[in-house]
Amino acid sequence: MLIGLSPHHEQFRGEVRDFCGKVAAPALADYDLDQPPSPQQWAQILNHVLDKGILDEYPRTEDGSPDDLAFGLLLEELARTHHVLAYHSLQRLHAPLIFREMLSAEQATRYHAAFNDRRASVAGCFSEPEAGSDVRAAKTTARRTPEGDWILKGRKTWVSGASHAKALIVYARIVNDASEGSLGDCGLFIVTPECGYSTHPIRMMGLRAHDLCEVQFDDVVLPDISRLIGNVDGAVLGTIARARAFQGAIAVGLAQAALDMAIGYARRHNAFGHPIGEYQLVQKLIVEAATGVMTGRLMYVQALNSQMAGDGSTARMESSMAKLYCTQTAWRAVSKAMEVFGSLGLTEECGIERLFRDARMLICPDGTSQIQEMVIGRAYTGLSALAR
Ligand SMILES: Cc1cc2nc3c(=O)[nH]c(=O)nc-3n(C[C@H](O)[C@H](O)[C@H](O)COP(=O)(O)OP(=O)(O)OC[C@H]3O[C@@H](n4cnc5c(N)ncnc54)[C@H](O)[C@@H]3O)c2cc1C
Repeated sequence: MLIGLSPHHEQFRGEVRDFCGKVAAPALADYDLDQPPSPQQWAQILNHVLDKGILDEYPRTEDGSPDDLAFGLLLEELARTHHVLAYHSLQRLHAPLIFREMLSAEQATRYHAAFNDRRASVAGCFSEPEAGSDVRAAKTTARRTPEGDWILKGRKTWVSGASHAKALIVYARIVNDASEGSLGDCGLFIVTPECGYSTHPIRMMGLRAHDLCEVQFDDVVLPDISRLIGNVDGAVLGTIARARAFQGAIAVGLAQAALDMAIGYARRHNAFGHPIGEYQLVQKLIVEAATGVMTGRLMYVQALNSQMAGDGSTARMESSMAKLYCTQTAWRAVSKAMEVFGSLGLTEECGIERLFRDARMLICPDGTSQIQEMVIGRAYTGLSALAR
């Protein structure tokens, strides 16, 4: 049993693994998921995996509160199968969980479908070409009209799930006074596709089945009800901080998949008349990858346990540690696993080079390694390298 997991969590992990083997992997098997699935293919995949219990709702504890640790375990196992389901679950289940708390009763009714549709996701639009790590430097504006609507103008980038989303949550700078155009604080707006915005896919080196887009808002008119009221910066930074341990779990899942492949190959492939797995130097590659995977898993489990214990500042710091360690280590672990395959590991047919490209992608979302290092450094010293 893994340290930090209750018998209930161990059992859940087993159930998820079973689901991945029996339902998720077969549902994905017929598609080339080194490219985005077509809408029809995506609908077919969702038909197979939804309504089986495990991917339908965010896991809950017995008292009904979010079971973040179970969600992390779910993401790891899904990523071990394929990143596309892990990222879809992160988008569909995690983002609405956070922003639902900010909805007024009227908003909850109006946007009910967007926040509860099992086949769609809510996409968080925070990053911009000039505001990634420094998300508060957003230049997208929301200007109030004399009629009380909002006009949204600007461009968001690297947005996960935007083209499939039933709703976007857009972080924009408020223009208080139409005549003077003075810039105030930032606000969050719920933007549904009917409001009219355009999305443009971004082709990346990895996570190619993942829906990553630029989103353009050309004077999009939003009703007043679309503005979320509350602690906006707290919600944005809190969402990002919570997601860091989840990115760690996904990284561990990818690295575990590469490790599984390397172990199988080391057992069956021969050189100098013996399975290469008999050679100590090949075992060393596997041992280094496995040690990184195990350490990463313990780190994200620790961070999510702190999160569930309500230990906010410790959880934030540990989530940054988990994100930093797991994403950097996963990339190295996949590289070690790839070496076990020799030249075959570099070919597309082998499949491990896709994991190498996918793993490298995980270093950026929800804060780069440098940003995590600054969060951890600030927690230990009490001094902020970010506040300049
Ligand atoms: C797969 C993927 C999914 C994503 N999903 C989303 C999403 O759904 N929604 C969304 O809004 N964004 C999303 N992003 C964007 C992601 O959050 C940003 O890419 C990330 O925050 C970094 O911003 P940037 O790329 O603009 O880099 P920049 O902020 O421009 O940084 C460039 C480099 O400078 C370093 N740097 C910046 N500031 C400092 C500093 N103060 N000290 C030291 N070094 C510094 C960075 O670490 C980096 O190495 C996603 C990105 C990826 C790759």
